[in-house]
Amino acid sequence: MMTTVDNKKMFIGGEWIEKESTIEVHDPQDNEVIATVPRANETDMLKAINVAKDGAETAAKMPVHERMEILHRAADFVKHYKHLYAITIASEGSKTITEAQGEVDRCIETLRISAEETRRIHGETIPFDQMPGHENRIGYFYRFPIGVVGAITPFNDPLNLVAHKIGPAIASGNSIVVKPATLTPLSALLLAEAFEAAGLPDKVLSVVTGKGSEIGDALVTHPAVRMISFTGGLETGTDIAHKAGLKKLSMELGSNSPTIVLKDADIKEAVDSCVSGSYGAVGQNCIGVQRIFIERPVYDEFMEQFANLSKQYTTGDKKLAATKMGPLISEQEAIRVEGTVAEAVANGATLLTGGKRQGAYYEATVLADVPRHARIVKEEIFGPVVMLFPVDSLDEAIEKANDVEYGLQAGIFTRDTKLAFQAIQSLNVGGVMVNDSSDYRIDGMPFGGVKGSGLGREGVSSSIQEMTEPKVVQFKL
Ligand code: NAD
Repeated sequence: MMTTVDNKKMFIGGEWIEKESTIEVHDPQDNEVIATVPRANETDMLKAINVAKDGAETAAKMPVHERMEILHRAADFVKHYKHLYAITIASEGSKTITEAQGEVDRCIETLRISAEETRRIHGETIPFDQMPGHENRIGYFYRFPIGVVGAITPFNDPLNLVAHKIGPAIASGNSIVVKPATLTPLSALLLAEAFEAAGLPDKVLSVVTGKGSEIGDALVTHPAVRMISFTGGLETGTDIAHKAGLKKLSMELGSNSPTIVLKDADIKEAVDSCVSGSYGAVGQNCIGVQRIFIERPVYDEFMEQFANLSKQYTTGDKKLAATKMGPLISEQEAIRVEGTVAEAVANGATLLTGGKRQGAYYEATVLADVPRHARIVKEEIFGPVVMLFPVDSLDEAIEKANDVEYGLQAGIFTRDTKLAFQAIQSLNVGGVMVNDSSDYRIDGMPFGGVKGSGLGREGVSSSIQEMTEPKVVQFKL
């Protein structure tokens, strides 16, 4: 891992900028300071937006083949320095080195998909003669870039979630100003290096480091910023939506994802999938499994296997390849998770395994008998804590799965296609995974939620739709 403190600069429209005022970046494992980044203020953010206005004109004029080449070269750069990217993610964040390597691979994939999707930004011809009196007209619509995109990203996937904003923005001919998570800005700055090396014209990309409370409003409320692409918590997202005014919003928010296990399921497959889906990235994962509804005839079998496997999901040093789970992003977060579990136990929940904290580390934790209206059932835990609920039928599972403010993704394990389709139709979420847990995603699929889980969809081609507008063209002959 990193041993010396690196004083990083931020990237504004092609220039690397330092500032006297800085923010320390800590490794949550031991709280050691690994780097500092500039603490941007409102003036810095306004400069980045002004630069991006020019950048938007440059980006829109860039031919498709150039955008594709730049995106592929950026992907090549990330691939070449994969180890550095992985170690950066595993140093500033919660992920183990193995999880971090997986995130780097996904980032490369996101950039490659962005390159490929660039050539597929199509329009359509319009049959104007559908309306009597309009027979002598022909026309079409094409998609044009929205202009300046403002992107705000969370700490839990500090590289790939930034790539999910920069890749589609460049593919669709926009400029973009990124405000990465305050706790994990280093991976985003390293991604800016990839685009600089790839020959992205100056002014098209900025990565402005600082605190959301200090520079967020300048980005969110600026009239020149035509879209805010936000990934983060429901509370912050709601606040941004209130402030943003008349601009496009893409909101990728949280969840407390359900997975249903029916009595005909392959129980071992369901247990394995739910365990990795619950504890990956220490449960700090928007589609991580939080609530599992199990049909009563297989409840005891599932519970026993799930608790046993959870006990083996131990914490350790992030830099060791064998470590399954690192620390939460901060001790403060681990204390919050500990308090939420203690409250559930005080309200009648049974602790099947886990429940202990050491610094920022928190054990893989399984709860049963959690009262239906407990806070932990309704809210996003964002930690390695799972609740098991017995149910008498699929109907009951669906009703309980839907009885929350969130709706990102859900999973169901069954061999019965009729029941699977019933779940697909009735679960109020953005994606249903059959014979996988809620924690299934590839970077090329539409991704996003309903209700408190957000607005709009990411996944590269969906983001390109969100970041472009149709322009109608009509010729009267
Ligand atoms: P957060 O909401 O605390 O912060 C997200 C970003 O918003 C950070 O960059 C932060 O600095 C910034 N921010 C904070 N206040 C702001 C303000 N007033 N104006 C502008 N920006 C502001 O979220 P987090 O703790 O970093 O991430 C965890 C959350 O993200 C969880 O709820 C998780 O489910 C969600 N998430 C969602 C997805 C998805 O795709 N749906 C993916 C990953 C994480």
